[in-house]
Amino acid sequence: KCGIDSDVRTHPGKQVKMEQIIVEGLEVFGYHGVYEQEKEEGQIFVVNCWIDTSFAGAIHSDDLSNTVDYGNVCLFIKKYFAENAHDLLEKVADELATSIMYAFPGVQKLVLEIKKPHAPIPMEFANVGVKVEKAWHQVALAIGSNMGDKEKYLTDAMEELISDPNVRNVIVSDYIETEPYGYVDQDKFLNGAATIETLLLPEDLLAFLHRIEEKADRKREIHWGPRTLDLDILLYDDACIHTKNLIVPHIDMCNRMFVLEPLMQIAPGLVHPVRRRTIYDLYYMLKEKENA
Ligand code: ADP
Ligand code: MG
Repeated sequence: KCGIDSDVRTHPGKQVKMEQIIVEGLEVFGYHGVYEQEKEEGQIFVVNCWIDTSFAGAIHSDDLSNTVDYGNVCLFIKKYFAENAHDLLEKVADELATSIMYAFPGVQKLVLEIKKPHAPIPMEFANVGVKVEKAWHQVALAIGSNMGDKEKYLTDAMEELISDPNVRNVIVSDYIETEPYGYVDQDKFLNGAATIETLLLPEDLLAFLHRIEEKADRKREIHWGPRTLDLDILLYDDACIHTKNLIVPHIDMCNRMFVLEPLMQIAPGLVHPVRRRTIYDLYYMLKEKENA
């Protein structure tokens, strides 16, 4: 059963209407499973997916090329099952969901369910299966450098982001030169901001950013001290995160002109989920405070 859903929501910070394409009860044959018999004989799997997308292009043009073609999604899933075999459905669901996100750029969010109605369980049951969710998350980053060829460190870091399949729509601000903050006995900074969309979850994104920092010979010596490259997460959708490794929204972003000024240039309409203010408002509020 395939179709569309009229549930229309507003995407946080983006003011884009999200509509949904639905695939239900797609039967495919595959060889996933832990037991020899499953690997050799295979069995039927049943797939459901809910695809968040924008219908805007489709509504204006009434043309299949302007939407996510659910027929193609079904064929893609069938092909994946024909060409891959894993022990665990968890692995299958994660890999397939990621592949769908890569292959169909119109999918903003995907919920994928894979059921195994004939799983080898020696009792009566209706169904077993797994469900995963993937989405292109809207993220704002602060970028900075105050050692060596600063502009090259920043530009190389942005190239690293752009070339990763889990990141897309990278928009980078101009770089601005600023006086050091916190520990002031050091060279001037080059600062900027970037907005990206990413499939990575916050902790995985942070680990990815740390790997890029390490590639740029970043050493963590003095807190707020000189660094070849600093990549901070400012906003991640409208998430509020407070763990040992990660605080989002970034704890000090509203007090830092070198953060708000470049971000204002590329994403004035983003909303800070705690302050409930746009970057535009926060920028002018800080400017007023600094001039007072
Ligand atoms: P800073 O960016 O504060 O000048 P570092 O780049 O050395 O200093 O980061 C120190 C630690 O801050 C990181 O190891 C990371 O775990 C933590 N951290 C907490 N929140 C964030 C965030 N929003 N973005 C990046 N790092 C963060
Ligand atoms: Mg940092």
